[in-house]
Amino acid sequence: MQAVAKSVDVRSLRIRYIAGLTIIAVLALVNFFALNSLIESENATAAIINVSGRQRMLTQKAALLSLRLTDTDSGELRNLIRMETHHTVSQMEAAHRGLLYGDPALGLPGNLPPGVRAMFFDPPYSIEDKLTAFLREVTMLATVPDSELETQYYRQARIVAAAAELVDYMNQVVDRLQGESEAKQREINGVGAAGLSVMLLVLIFEFLFIFQPAARAISLEAEQLAAANAELTRLSNVDGLTGVANRRLFDDFFVAEWQRAVRSKQPLTVIMADVDHFKLYNDTYGHQAGDECLRQVASALSGGIQRATDLVARYGGEEFAVVLPDTDAGGAVAVAERLRAAVEGLGIPHAASKVRPVVTVSLGAASVLPEADGQPLAVIARADQALYKAKQLGRNRVVTEADQENDKPQEGK
Ligand code: GH3
Ligand code: MG
Ligand code: MG
Repeated sequence: MQAVAKSVDVRSLRIRYIAGLTIIAVLALVNFFALNSLIESENATAAIINVSGRQRMLTQKAALLSLRLTDTDSGELRNLIRMETHHTVSQMEAAHRGLLYGDPALGLPGNLPPGVRAMFFDPPYSIEDKLTAFLREVTMLATVPDSELETQYYRQARIVAAAAELVDYMNQVVDRLQGESEAKQREINGVGAAGLSVMLLVLIFEFLFIFQPAARAISLEAEQLAAANAELTRLSNVDGLTGVANRRLFDDFFVAEWQRAVRSKQPLTVIMADVDHFKLYNDTYGHQAGDECLRQVASALSGGIQRATDLVARYGGEEFAVVLPDTDAGGAVAVAERLRAAVEGLGIPHAASKVRPVVTVSLGAASVLPEADGQPLAVIARADQALYKAKQLGRNRVVTEADQENDKPQEGK
């Protein structure tokens, strides 16, 4: 049997597999947390943009309300404007606090990006200072009694100018935040793409260094296994000494051929052959020479059959059995005679033989037209009887059932 061509390091495959899986798992986790934190900060930026935009709108609204306060003669409308102004101011103060210190309800994190924070607090223009001053002016105007409103034009002018300035700076804040948001978006895309690329690389690695070697190893092992199985089957069917079919294969083959003959309604022949005076051969030439003799007899018998469907088997000891499918009694005699001549023709000296000075065999043949309810083993028994008869009649000959029939009247004598 072939030696194992290439041993497969299953342990190293397993380590590579586990390493590959671990890398993918770690990458997936890192990617998840990186993306998550980026998206979270991106959400916070979006909330700051949103609230800043609203502050801008409310600033304009507060300035507009301040102007409208002196536009009307109706005391009732003025009171409404005053209420709306106070409401707007408190909305702006709340939003401003939210921007600086955080407000979960608005999704504000409470920590502005450093650049934006500088715009709120650092000179030369601090939004924080300007907004506080603006809201103070707006509130003061809203609390001035009707009778003094006429004197407040200078305050209105300051409010409008401050509002314009504030809106301008709010615009800058929003622009800056939007720029940061876009950069963050690109970062998110980059992180996602990088994570995906590395995972794909790991998968390719797994394919090249784990899957392929494993698949190769498996198919190699399957091939070796199939070859070993075929060899085992062959060995279990072959006789170790002579190389012809053994008794086991003979039994299987005979039953299969019997069943086939039943279906095809064709005759089946069995020939039993036994070496003549083989005990004397062993006694004369030794057991080893006896073995060699059996090998030669077996190969002469194998060479004596012609059809590929015929089978020569060692039945046991120095006895051989031949199965001839699709062969009737007429054919059986011809084949058996040929086998007998082939063994005699080997010319193996056998000085002790009482038949001929060379090794000979006696053969008994039996043919049958098998039937489904017939007894398969009966034909073997009949071939055995014929062989016994051949021995009785002087050996080195073929006896068929027909001969035995012919003998019957003589036996009566
Ligand atoms: P007959 O002509 O009546 O068949 O006489 P025989 O001596 O051949 O018959 P017998 O049954 O008395 O002896 C068969 C001998 O075959 C006995 C046994 O030692 C020998 N034999 C059986 N198998 C083997 C074998 O594998 N190798 C050898 N060397 N001898 C074997
Ligand atoms: Mg015998
Ligand atoms: Mg014998």
